[in-house]
Amino acid sequence: MPTYVYAKKSDANEDGCAECRASFEAVQRMSDAPLEKCPKCGAPIERVLQAPMLGNIDNSLKGPSDSALKQAGFTKFKRAGKGQYEKQYGTGPGRLG
Ligand SMILES: [Zn+2]
Repeated sequence: MPTYVYAKKSDANEDGCAECRASFEAVQRMSDAPLEKCPKCGAPIERVLQAPMLGNIDNSLKGPSDSALKQAGFTKFKRAGKGQYEKQYGTGPGRLG
């Protein structure tokens, strides 16, 4: 299931809690309606657009080598299917999507 990032609406009057002020992730089905309220404090929230993951923009562009990225502490994800990514190395979450 896709993971969406939510954050407190910037024009909301509520202060929000630590989570929605900093933004948080919610795993939802594609068919689920977007969340409108923070599940913790009830402040109005909105979905934040995420940047596409590494390698998705232009596969013909050659970036730094894997070993350089690994040494620099990056986490690399490999596309494992529609909207899903599996970690190849690094300290990030084991699976996205
Ligand atoms: Zn909150």
